[in-house]
Amino acid sequence: MTANSFHRVVVVGGGFGGLQATVGLRRAPVELTLVDRRNFHLFQPLTYQVATGALSPGEIAYPLRAIFKRQRNTSVLLAEASDIDLERRELHLRAVAGVPAPTSIPYDTLIVSGGSQYSYFGHDEWSEHANEVKSLESALMVRSHILAAFEAAEMEQDPERRAAWLTFVIVGAGPTGVEMAGQIAELARDTLRHDFRSIDPRQGRILLLEGADRVLTSFPPSLSRRAERSLKKLGVTPMLGALVVSVDAGGVTVKVSGERTERVASRTVVWAAGVTASGLAARLGELTGAECDRAGRVAVEPDLTLPGHPEVLALGDMVRVRGADGTPTVFPGVAPVAMQQGRYAAKLVRSRVRGRRTAPFHYRDKGNLATIGRAAAVADIKGLKLSGLLAWLTWLVVHLWYLVGFQNRVLVFIRWSVSFFTHGRGARLITGEAAEAGAEAGETAWPR
Ligand SMILES: Cc1cc2nc3c(=O)[nH]c(=O)nc-3n(C[C@H](O)[C@H](O)[C@H](O)COP(=O)(O)OP(=O)(O)OC[C@H]3O[C@@H](n4cnc5c(N)ncnc54)[C@H](O)[C@@H]3O)c2cc1C
Repeated sequence: MTANSFHRVVVVGGGFGGLQATVGLRRAPVELTLVDRRNFHLFQPLTYQVATGALSPGEIAYPLRAIFKRQRNTSVLLAEASDIDLERRELHLRAVAGVPAPTSIPYDTLIVSGGSQYSYFGHDEWSEHANEVKSLESALMVRSHILAAFEAAEMEQDPERRAAWLTFVIVGAGPTGVEMAGQIAELARDTLRHDFRSIDPRQGRILLLEGADRVLTSFPPSLSRRAERSLKKLGVTPMLGALVVSVDAGGVTVKVSGERTERVASRTVVWAAGVTASGLAARLGELTGAECDRAGRVAVEPDLTLPGHPEVLALGDMVRVRGADGTPTVFPGVAPVAMQQGRYAAKLVRSRVRGRRTAPFHYRDKGNLATIGRAAAVADIKGLKLSGLLAWLTWLVVHLWYLVGFQNRVLVFIRWSVSFFTHGRGARLITGEAAEAGAEAGETAWPR
């Protein structure tokens, strides 16, 4: 296959959107290059389970090369997309992890699905004290912090300082925040219950801060109420109408109900609030004149192309899509949206190669799911509102179904079955930075 004999497609991002776009072009007469700065696809909906020791990293990530080893028209390239030259139709690249990469690659069609990242409401300095669970690396940091906090509490004699170690603050009560809070509560109340001698992990406080007046605002209010009840039953304290005004090494300061300011002493803060689009969205906006919103999402045309550049498509968390009347629609920042858009992008390329037209993108909303803990979840499926065991089983099946890799599905199924009956978590390891910092400090307080 020579460089110019086939239509050259470059896909940026092997996440949910990019993966589907690439899979959808497996039989197309194209030469495809999938560029990602990681060598694996990450199943983000389960990173919080890595952060709480329920699953191991390898069970929710799958090497991109393994996924596409039999897709003959596809090459995987480990590199970071740094810029786009629309005139020359070239994607500029930067090497990652010391692995050499070409400085640019040419394309006939470019599909960009760079995702999003957490935003700290303009206070990037808070990220030093409040980790998020979007990447595998940060999920592992959170895991180490949580486990190290219990260890430090065990060694701490001062009751106030011990209480701070045993206070866990989660900022943002969307699905990720709710899931994190529920998992930490189960860790403290079930898994670690008999593991310590000086402390009782069940005395840990888990605070879930939310600026709105209910948890899970993307769900109907009745399901928010049920989720709140389930959280309280697990031992989580939801603090609603609570806006974070500062985060530092000693805890968080919140403004409650827009009036009083409250200080919460805590050594573990997990960030699960607002997201901002990949910087690639802003760059595409700059280059094409497409408008970006406050969350950095670029507005694409109804067929996911950039204005004036039908050869460039963008999708997933980083875009809004214009409707027939020109108004951009913000779809939920969830995997099904990115996956449907990825499949649509593949279909559009296949049609173009055959000289056919494709109707605008249409999103089919299949519902909304969030889990809280063992046998507790909420589901809103086309108006059908479920909670409790049935919603939880639906959540399990959906997540196992979409997890990439047969081996991972089997492993996760076994892990979940064992944990369900034993309340255990096999991946409770303190690794990386937290472990090293503790070893260097050689003191009871575990630096963050
Ligand atoms: C903690 C968490 C929990 C979630 N839970 C759920 C859930 O339960 N259900 C649900 O439906 N959705 C959930 N989501 C949302 C869902 O994961 C996203 O909507 C989805 O991943 C978006 O897909 P995407 O393709 O746009 O981006 P991503 O899946 O994030 O993929 C982006 C890819 O692009 C790569 N990349 C980025 N920039 C570059 C660059 N410059 N060069 C090269 N590569 C680059 C990244 O490495 C990544 O592989 C969750 C998200 C998070 C963070």
